[in-house]
Amino acid sequence: MTIKAKSATNGAPVHAPKSQADSALVTALTQFDRAARILELDEGDAATLRTCQRELTVNFPVKMRDGKVRNFTGFRVHHNTSRGPTKGGIRYAPHVSLDEVRALAMWMTWKCAVVNIPYGGAKGGVLVDPKQHNLHELEGITRRYTTEISVLLSPDGDIPAPDMGTNAQTMAWIMDTYSMHRGHSVPAIVTGKPLNIGGSAGRHEATGRGVMFTVREAFRSMGWTFEGARVAVQGFGNVGSITAITAHEMGAKVIAVSDIDGGLHNSRGINMPRLRQWHKEHGTIKGFDGGDWITNAELFGLKTDVLIPAAMENQLTSQTAPTVRARMVAEGANGPTTPEGDAILNDKGIIVIPDILCNAGGVVVSYFEWVQSLQQLFWEEDDINSRLEKIMIRSYHDVKDRADSLKIDLRTGAQVLGIGRVAEASRTRGLYP
Ligand code: NAD
Repeated sequence: MTIKAKSATNGAPVHAPKSQADSALVTALTQFDRAARILELDEGDAATLRTCQRELTVNFPVKMRDGKVRNFTGFRVHHNTSRGPTKGGIRYAPHVSLDEVRALAMWMTWKCAVVNIPYGGAKGGVLVDPKQHNLHELEGITRRYTTEISVLLSPDGDIPAPDMGTNAQTMAWIMDTYSMHRGHSVPAIVTGKPLNIGGSAGRHEATGRGVMFTVREAFRSMGWTFEGARVAVQGFGNVGSITAITAHEMGAKVIAVSDIDGGLHNSRGINMPRLRQWHKEHGTIKGFDGGDWITNAELFGLKTDVLIPAAMENQLTSQTAPTVRARMVAEGANGPTTPEGDAILNDKGIIVIPDILCNAGGVVVSYFEWVQSLQQLFWEEDDINSRLEKIMIRSYHDVKDRADSLKIDLRTGAQVLGIGRVAEASRTRGLYP
């Protein structure tokens, strides 16, 4: 179903400019087609699963601080609802496109199925650079976008969460806007919200923690020593920073981190507590004196045990993958490796822990938060973390066993597992009408 929104009034682009991100959908579909062939999916079922179920584009005006009205474009896409309500983050970035949101929604469906939680996949996005707006303007943009997409939202239908460029404050505004329309508080409408309005302990850290639970388990299963393993992380936002800090706390050696401006390298290991403090005070890793300044491209080429892309899509490509010298790539970001990059990493014998497994910790704890919000009963952080660890370890072995039994790589194993579970749910429910 495509729901058409009213058109923009003063020239806001309906489609994002063409950018690298446009190929995220090509990546998602290439991965899907490979898994669908292995699963021998019926042609009609495959066509259904490779298409998003609902897509909404909205164009909306917001008054800026200087009194001028600016128009924005946003999307909310539901990929599949066979296994439950849809779940997926909302991204604020200057070049978000509908294709990018479609790919991310599809990956959410497979991800929820891989970790076996009862959700389908969704994703949202607004073409906006959050760094160019003050809090007042971001609140206006968020509240109006929420209102525009509210036909698709509900606590038992579609539950957003943070993604690139959005955070707990954004979720608070979404929850408040939705609640104002209902006349009462609806905390289960979003996850990743602040603790003081019903958020979950451990949600902020969940994705990064989940990445490291998975990496540590993969090391164990390969018989590799985790203690002192060298780790390099691209991206120092929610996922990257918590991944790096958790890696350090678990006993690995973080030798490099980066953000959009570039990276830091210290072969003896970066002092993570000091870097965390620096980042808290300055909002960037730039200027920190505990390492040498390198480019993101140089970070990819470092000799390391684990390389963790945790920034955005399409980072390990036919251009960059040949330079990778890690033993393992663990995908903290969604879609950081293109199909060409993937083939190169596989040829080099590098183990790739795929995004739909590796970064699923965020949606797992979002699921815990949703359950707590619905029940109004809150769990301790230790409980959250041990449940998360159990699910990540179980899911890693589910994927590894599937990959080993079919003699395929972990990404294809994860896709076969996730897509297979969705296809099965869909067959069990039958076709309406
Ligand atoms: P964020 O906005 O908090 O951080 C993004 C980070 O990436 C920032 O440090 C930014 O400087 C850096 N960055 C942006 N462009 C870059 C570039 N070209 N080169 C190097 N660094 C760059 O976003 P986030 O929530 O940490 O999300 C990062 C990735 O993880 C995305 O792919 C997102 O979809 C995925 N993800 C996020 C969550 C979550 O819970 N937040 C869960 C699963 C997956």
